[in-house]
Amino acid sequence: MIYDNIVIGAGYGGLTAAALLAKAGQKVLLLEAHTVPGGCASFYNRKGILFDSGATTLSGMAEGQPMNKLFRELEIEPRVIKLDPGMIIKFGDRELVRHSNLEQWIIECERFFGLKGIRGFWELVHSIDKKVYKLIANNKRIPPVSAGDLLSLAKPSNLKGLPLLPYLFKPVESVLKKFGLGDDPLFRSFIDEQLLITTQNTADDAPFLTAAMGLAYPAQTYYPYGGLFFPAKQIEKRFREFGGEVKYKKKVTAIRQEKGRYKIVTDDGSEYLCSGVITNIPLWNLPALTEGEFKEYFIKVSPKQDGAWGAFMINFAIKHNLREDLKSVYWQIHVPEGVPYCESKSFFVTISPEDDTQKAPKGVKSVTISLHTKPENWYGLTEEEYSRRKNKTGSFIVQKFDQAFPMLAGYEKSHVEFGTPVTFEKYTGRFRGLVGGVPHSVKNNLLKMNSGVTPFKNFYNTGDTVFPGQGTVAVTIGASNLVTRILDKK
Ligand SMILES: Cc1cc2nc3c(=O)[nH]c(=O)nc-3n(C[C@H](O)[C@H](O)[C@H](O)COP(=O)(O)OP(=O)(O)OC[C@H]3O[C@@H](n4cnc5c(N)ncnc54)[C@H](O)[C@@H]3O)c2cc1C
Repeated sequence: MIYDNIVIGAGYGGLTAAALLAKAGQKVLLLEAHTVPGGCASFYNRKGILFDSGATTLSGMAEGQPMNKLFRELEIEPRVIKLDPGMIIKFGDRELVRHSNLEQWIIECERFFGLKGIRGFWELVHSIDKKVYKLIANNKRIPPVSAGDLLSLAKPSNLKGLPLLPYLFKPVESVLKKFGLGDDPLFRSFIDEQLLITTQNTADDAPFLTAAMGLAYPAQTYYPYGGLFFPAKQIEKRFREFGGEVKYKKKVTAIRQEKGRYKIVTDDGSEYLCSGVITNIPLWNLPALTEGEFKEYFIKVSPKQDGAWGAFMINFAIKHNLREDLKSVYWQIHVPEGVPYCESKSFFVTISPEDDTQKAPKGVKSVTISLHTKPENWYGLTEEEYSRRKNKTGSFIVQKFDQAFPMLAGYEKSHVEFGTPVTFEKYTGRFRGLVGGVPHSVKNNLLKMNSGVTPFKNFYNTGDTVFPGQGTVAVTIGASNLVTRILDKK
């Protein structure tokens, strides 16, 4: 059997590409090293309680937005709920409520920070967010990689997008200054920590164009029941229904070109032949799987690692008898003094709502906490030092969690587990546990990101280290644009 395409990796990128290609009638094989799909947006099960392995929030679900379009195209209806507030941000005892409605949010933000300029700033953020989503929806040939792509972009409706271009080269900091918001340390730390969980960068270097999308996202936060694994599983199911084949526990160890085709080798010695390959694994991983000119190419185009992040994770369950549910599912807890062996000054908390019995039985909450850390904090250590650091960081955050959620602090926690970049590398195979994609920065802006189109015939990359990177929404946009490109070629 010679497949039209083999997709390597069943993260959101690989799943989207595989399902759309199979829907178009291609013979597609999806190879995944793990036992389930989802990658960084997957889960694990402890005695019937499900825990998120990384990502927890769904966005891009509003009418016409990419996730909404993908689910429609695949005719699936994941069980999700739009949250309002989209998130609550805690600074000690003070709470900043991220309302969905722009007017309500501006009033709340003005109340909390007491600064002039807030209205203008958020109006600009939301107007840019809307325009960028529109531009993305109308242009499947971005990033342009050929004269034909450039021509397809030169249409009158795109002219409206031209005024957005300067924001690709302007850091958020300069826009904050324009609105007189540059000097307030509390507002700045709020913006920096929000940016870190979305653009993977802070206000001094994050380009306002993509930062605006990151800052606007909590207005459109959706909670997937059971966790983000479930929509992933539904995409996988659809893929099979379209005639696609999935093989789990198949870690790809080599990709070779032979007689105009590709041979994909897996760790159990199996070999598969195909005309085209789509990798859904980070570019950093590809030099180890390829040889010759392929290897040289991937060494050359692998993004710099120094800006990229790893994640520290904490999961646990809490059995409780609260009468009322919490005010939000998503929380960002500020820790101005910092967290041991982590670079974030906040941590992101997801607490399953009471009606999510797919995730945990009634009266039990499944809690996921994540924050940014550099792999250097976790690699090259003795086993003893690694465990000491892991326990120190984990215990510190659990203590801060108890202070932030006194209503839950009295109840016993079970299944407490801590994860580091080393854990991510073990379960997702990602090089040095680097997750979340490549930070968007003024210097390395979107235009400089790898397009996923290689110089090798029918060899493509998708996922969060290629355009537009970062988060499940961006990854599905990238994969869907890639499929359009592949099908247009036929
Ligand atoms: C802690 C954390 C929180 C996050 N929060 C959010 C959030 O709330 N919302 C959001 O939208 N995004 C979030 N993200 C980002 C999001 O999870 C990722 O950007 C996205 O899921 C990446 O998808 P992907 O398809 O590029 O790759 P991955 O999810 O990394 O998938 C790659 C797949 O390839 C498989 N694989 C690897 N090597 C091989 C091999 N050699 N052979 C076969 N298979 C292989 C892996 O097992 C994996 O399943 C978060 C990420 C982290 C780490």
